[in-house]
Amino acid sequence: MSDDFQQAYLKEIGVQTPISSFVTEEKEATREAIPSEASTYAKPIIEAASEVAEPVMQASHAEVDVPPTQTAAADGLAGLKIKAEACKACELVESRNQLVFGDGNEHADLLFIAEAPGRDEDLAGKPFVGVTGVLFERMLAAIGISRDDVYMMHGVKCRPQHNRDPKPDEFAACEPFLTAQLAHVQPQVICMLGRVVAQSLLKTDASLTELRQGRFSYRGIPVLVIDHPSYLIRAQQNKRRAWQDLLRLQSFLQTIH
Ligand code: SF4
Repeated sequence: MSDDFQQAYLKEIGVQTPISSFVTEEKEATREAIPSEASTYAKPIIEAASEVAEPVMQASHAEVDVPPTQTAAADGLAGLKIKAEACKACELVESRNQLVFGDGNEHADLLFIAEAPGRDEDLAGKPFVGVTGVLFERMLAAIGISRDDVYMMHGVKCRPQHNRDPKPDEFAACEPFLTAQLAHVQPQVICMLGRVVAQSLLKTDASLTELRQGRFSYRGIPVLVIDHPSYLIRAQQNKRRAWQDLLRLQSFLQTIH
């Protein structure tokens, strides 16, 4: 990511302080074999503000013969995407234009999860595009992270009509794809973007304020929660709050390297 992006974002939020870069280290050339069950790739859990129950993984995937988490190693992300494109497990398949499966570094240490694709993403078939994507890339650049360093995806892969929040049963139906993606990427940190996806995947009623202040775990992977970039576009007065979130994320990432 160019320095221009970083400077543009810092200028927008009025920050003059030089930012030390977080440099994603190369993953080891020989990665551990991807386990066949999500529960077996759990990594040490950092101190958590609350314990989170393991989400239910069963879902009725009419077009998916085998739960995707059991085939992650064999399929790879490309194979999983093909299965997701054929999925009709929830009604969101009716309202989408394109599946928005996920994008980024398939071996990223840092993985972002937002709730659901928006209009631009639905049309492009790719997460974090358009105005939101530009802001998101600037946010990452402000703490020295390139989009190419991370993997990004949504809790549900198909866009809900009129950008409504996904329902709990829709998150549950799509969760096997999400956990299969996690099994493949094996991130060291998950960053959830916004209250809706965090409440659903972490099985909590905590407010966004509480979520932003806490540290959680999902499938044994440490989780931080920050504002969704699209929220910041609608509420620009919160950019400084977003900067605090980014510093918290940067600081946390430094603890794992
Ligand atoms: Fe299938 Fe997920 Fe799309 Fe629902 S949102 S149809 S579970 S891929």
